[in-house]
Amino acid sequence: AIEISDMNKWFGTFHVLRDINLTVNRGERIVICGPSGSGKSTLIRCINRLEEHQAGSIVVDGTELNSDLKNVDKVRSEVGMVFQHFNLFPHLTVLENCTLAPIWVRKVPRKEAVERAMHFLEKVKIPDQAMKYPGQLSGGQQQRVAIARSLCMMPRIMLFDEPTSALDPEMIKEVLDTMIELAEEGMTMLCVTHEMGFAQAVANRVIFMADGQIVEQNEPHEFFNNPKSERTQQFLSQII
Ligand code: ATP
Ligand code: MG
Repeated sequence: AIEISDMNKWFGTFHVLRDINLTVNRGERIVICGPSGSGKSTLIRCINRLEEHQAGSIVVDGTELNSDLKNVDKVRSEVGMVFQHFNLFPHLTVLENCTLAPIWVRKVPRKEAVERAMHFLEKVKIPDQAMKYPGQLSGGQQQRVAIARSLCMMPRIMLFDEPTSALDPEMIKEVLDTMIELAEEGMTMLCVTHEMGFAQAVANRVIFMADGQIVEQNEPHEFFNNPKSERTQQFLSQII
């Protein structure tokens, strides 16, 4: 589980996250939405310490994120992250992208790392692309490689930051389908996305952020049909 209590973060003097309280239990699927600049990316980047918070606490499966690098390593080993831009290594094949960290960071024997990679490439339905380089794939295929690469580290929690927002419309569905499948298998997921169909299909909670705060959260049906705050209503009227 992820437990965030009274968490605050500043960039210099700019107060980017304010009094964030959020618990994500095992198996929960949370969608975070909100206007540009509201702090969504910063929040999920804090959960694997790509950003540091300055006040309050973030505890992931019992390990508190603080300046202790052992804790940071432990949390990162449990948390996978997929970004808007796929961040694949361009000079490595798809297969090598998926086996690099398991072999060199986790010391998984090469043969096992390759088997694991092929397993997850099959899962995201592109085993036939294993020997290609990222530049030879479509955007949707590259994003599915990024998801497979992350799964090869056997995470217990997956963070997604607008994984479909850089994709052409016809490729969005294949990536969302992959994420829906992960959700159905019980993966704990925290997804920043404005794909409200996805939110309605798989989220058990939708969170709306504005100005660095969690303004409103609810189960999807209530969230979309009966938003409480004016900010949420205004936001939903713009995106739906
Ligand atoms: P978007 O929907 O556009 O991705 P977001 O909700 O993900 O927006 P963040 O990227 O978390 O927003 O940014 C929140 C605020 O913090 C913004 O005002 C942004 O300019 C600022 N910010 C983000 N990263 C930094 C940084 N490294 N240094 C200073 N300010 C930053
Ligand atoms: Mg963002």
